[in-house]
Amino acid sequence: MNADTSFDFIVVGAGSAGCAVSAELANANAGTVCALEAGCSDRSAFVKTPFAIMFMMGSQKRDWRHVTTAQAALGHRTLKVPRGKMIGGSGSINSMVWFRGRCDDFDNWAVDGWSSKEVVPAFEEIEKRMTPQLLAHPHPVAQRFARALNSDGHCAPSPEQEGAGIFNVNMRSSKRWSPADAFLRPAQATGNLSVFSDTRVAKIVFTDRKATGVELTDGRRLTARKGVVLSAGSIESPAILMRSGVGPAAHLHSLNIKVVKDAPEVGRNLHDHPVIGLYHAGPNSGYGLTLRQLPQWAFAPFSYLLANKGPLASNLVEAGAFFNACARDEKPDVQVHFIPYKMGWRGRTKVWGSGYYADVGVCRPKSRGQLKLTSSDATAAPAIDLGLLTHPDDLTTLIAGFKRLRTILANAPFDERRAPEAFPAQQVSTDEQIEHYIRERLGTAYHPVGTLRMGTGDAPVSSRLQVRGVDNLWVADASVMPQITSANTNAPSIMIGFRAARIIAKDGKQ
Ligand SMILES: Cc1cc2nc3c(=O)[nH]c(=O)nc-3n(C[C@H](O)[C@H](O)[C@H](O)COP(=O)(O)OP(=O)(O)OC[C@H]3O[C@@H](n4cnc5c(N)ncnc54)[C@H](O)[C@@H]3O)c2cc1C
Repeated sequence: MNADTSFDFIVVGAGSAGCAVSAELANANAGTVCALEAGCSDRSAFVKTPFAIMFMMGSQKRDWRHVTTAQAALGHRTLKVPRGKMIGGSGSINSMVWFRGRCDDFDNWAVDGWSSKEVVPAFEEIEKRMTPQLLAHPHPVAQRFARALNSDGHCAPSPEQEGAGIFNVNMRSSKRWSPADAFLRPAQATGNLSVFSDTRVAKIVFTDRKATGVELTDGRRLTARKGVVLSAGSIESPAILMRSGVGPAAHLHSLNIKVVKDAPEVGRNLHDHPVIGLYHAGPNSGYGLTLRQLPQWAFAPFSYLLANKGPLASNLVEAGAFFNACARDEKPDVQVHFIPYKMGWRGRTKVWGSGYYADVGVCRPKSRGQLKLTSSDATAAPAIDLGLLTHPDDLTTLIAGFKRLRTILANAPFDERRAPEAFPAQQVSTDEQIEHYIRERLGTAYHPVGTLRMGTGDAPVSSRLQVRGVDNLWVADASVMPQITSANTNAPSIMIGFRAARIIAKDGKQ
């Protein structure tokens, strides 16, 4: 970092939303902008290669490797909560599946200025830069799954109606095209934007109740003349805010943190898409480690580098579907992710044999959890209680979704690529057995949201993205979503960052 430690705006976190908000503040000439990222650079062929997601999840260097608290409804299991820790954030570690969400997701937020009509122009703008398009070379077994609910399977599925298809992905020439590529790096040319990786923010510095800068974990301080934007994601943004003294007063007192503003809702409303999977294994079905596929794997680097094809060009989550499992109304209530690769069901992802995997997840879960600090120490991991299955409707939807997904997989036109269900297989068939399987095996889609929801009244963040009760502090990331969108959350997070810049450029004053 150079000697200049004073900027107009400091953005904490250069993830999906952070890249968009930093870039758009710089492009709008709103002042000097500094984006601080705790993780490393994303300039690596490894990060660009879609299949490498398999190795980035769980990486010491690029994943925060958070875990949940023991989940009471899941036999007190803990679950992994991967989060990208590098420039581009989770947008540099994710599967690049692109969905805006349903239109009524935004209308149901019922937050001034965030209706579907108001967010659609922002999606249109960001899609010009992120250029999502159908995955170019899906595996033949994914192409067959894409015809499972509709005969052509040529267009991407949509959460607006039932259907299957190959997914739209934010890739260019079979390489990851992240928010850092689309927003952050081009905006550095304005001269208004400084980006620092390997720079972790410990807390926000308040003068009275006005955010005037940040303190780093190495003790250095940076000044923000117009304000600070928290874009550290749904796990770290509320944690930083609480460490800075904005959160539930009793909780902060218990950790000897000086209270700047009692904000009981900070960290509440944590939720994610719960998912349950079905594993299929059989020769010549999907990708996998088999003698027959050895030549394909041996040539994989060449087919990828020379023709942008082959297994390394696969983002794994190649296809999927939406359908209505419970028929409560017309809307699809579940999403399916289809992976044409043999996933291990005994805790390992790399196993011998070929196969495919599909999971079904609740589009609009009702269960809610809470995030709390475990210590005032800036490097201590927070306590992440996802509250999975605390609302009974989520379990009902999962049981119905599991049963229908199994029927869909049994009837999909896989033909000679068909592989039998290997796990949990037919010993799990009654509702009781399926419920037991779900409690033993439930995971998430890695879409945590909601810990700093925007709204009126008690909501910790206003519709103008300002943290209530303090000045010059905004939040722009997935944590502000009052309710999760009905599909994957990267595009909505980028949209929030993009729109935040216009709001903050207007509202931010020295
Ligand atoms: C494995 C995985 C697969 C996924 N697949 C998909 C998918 O295919 N499609 C999809 O739509 N969504 C997917 N998602 C979800 C999607 O990527 C996220 O919803 C989205 O990236 C969230 O954006 P964000 O800006 O809120 O947070 P992030 O992108 O996580 O950004 C937060 C940033 O803040 C940084 N940070 C945190 N704390 C500090 C600190 N103290 N100081 C400085 N910097 C800090 C982090 O390192 C990170 O770079 C996936 C997520 C994961 C983890």
